[in-house]
Amino acid sequence: MTDTIYDIVIIGGGPAGMFAAYYASLRKLKVALVESLPNLGGQPQTLYAQKEIFDVAALPKVSGTELTDQLIQQLNFLDVDQLLSTSVTDIKQTNDNIWSLTTNNGTINTKSIIVAIGNGAFKPRKLTFDYDPSIEENNLCYFVTDIDEFKDKNIAIAGGGDSAVDWAIHLNDIANETALIHRRNKYRAMESSVDSLNDSDVEQLNPYIIKDVKYNNDDNKKIDVTLKKIRADEEKVITIDKLLVNYGFVSDSKILKDWNLELEGPFIKVTQQMETNLPNVFAIGDIVTYPGKLQLIATAFAEGPMAVTKAIKNIYPNKDYFEHSTSLFS
Ligand SMILES: Cc1cc2nc3c(=O)[nH]c(=O)nc-3n(C[C@H](O)[C@H](O)[C@H](O)COP(=O)(O)OP(=O)(O)OC[C@H]3O[C@@H](n4cnc5c(N)ncnc54)[C@H](O)[C@@H]3O)c2cc1C
Repeated sequence: MTDTIYDIVIIGGGPAGMFAAYYASLRKLKVALVESLPNLGGQPQTLYAQKEIFDVAALPKVSGTELTDQLIQQLNFLDVDQLLSTSVTDIKQTNDNIWSLTTNNGTINTKSIIVAIGNGAFKPRKLTFDYDPSIEENNLCYFVTDIDEFKDKNIAIAGGGDSAVDWAIHLNDIANETALIHRRNKYRAMESSVDSLNDSDVEQLNPYIIKDVKYNNDDNKKIDVTLKKIRADEEKVITIDKLLVNYGFVSDSKILKDWNLELEGPFIKVTQQMETNLPNVFAIGDIVTYPGKLQLIATAFAEGPMAVTKAIKNIYPNKDYFEHSTSLFS
């Protein structure tokens, strides 16, 4: 991918990885943050974007998206290479000091690694029938990366969870017409969100499943989405510009078994300084275990500086050490 040898590569762009990347850059290291999804944020952004979080220090309440936006803003304040849509599949030590990471976009070399993969790489649950893959280029998506793509369009969202309901309400503000397609009559979303949905002019198509998606014959910039009513023979076709499928995400961390990391169940065992059993490979966030570990954002934030500080001590033993950021620029 590049000839660069990073000081630290952080695998996983959730809250743990994002803050660790920022902190490592603050400590003047050459850092890359690698995230398998097209966007940063991890669970708060992917699984509960609109839910309020009440236990992040100094933020009385913050939604998953707001927290992610703040972390991105902080990250962009410093120099961190952000490698998105990049999944790390293997790590190997090429000689005593360098680790080589295999990804779907090539190899990355680094002196140390922080594994911050949470529950593992997220993959969206996709439509289960075959469709023309080129439809994903313009008309069908599983993530919202740029909400302007929905502006003034006729759109449909498929799904019945928090994410689908929240996106339907949110995108309806900018779309021309919005439909929400769900296989049940009842949504698995917060009551207040369902109330907002019912108060909106989003067309609720339920109980329907999507049976087929293909280009419209008269206008190939649009797609025809065939819907089948549950437990009935009724079918209908809607012609729209954009379909957002929100059937949730699957994730697994089985990949770790091949990385020779010492595991306890699905988790990586770490020391108090976030060291794994491999030299200069650290781990933080939801993927780690140690006595008293809590799977919280607050804990994940604290673990990043500990891992980075130990990495600096290992790879640059003579580097000046400042514990307080207030000392860094004075
Ligand atoms: C519904 C829900 C509500 C929650 N509410 C709260 C709350 O109120 N307060 C709180 O403190 N915590 C809450 N949590 C927990 C909190 O979200 C997690 O503790 C936190 O997200 C952990 O951060 P992380 O960075 O370790 O992992 P994640 O957020 O899971 O991020 C890991 C990232 O790594 C990426 N990744 C994985 N594998 C690879 C790979 N091989 N290559 C590249 N990238 C990879 C993933 O795509 C993901 O983006 C909640 C969790 C859920 C599910």
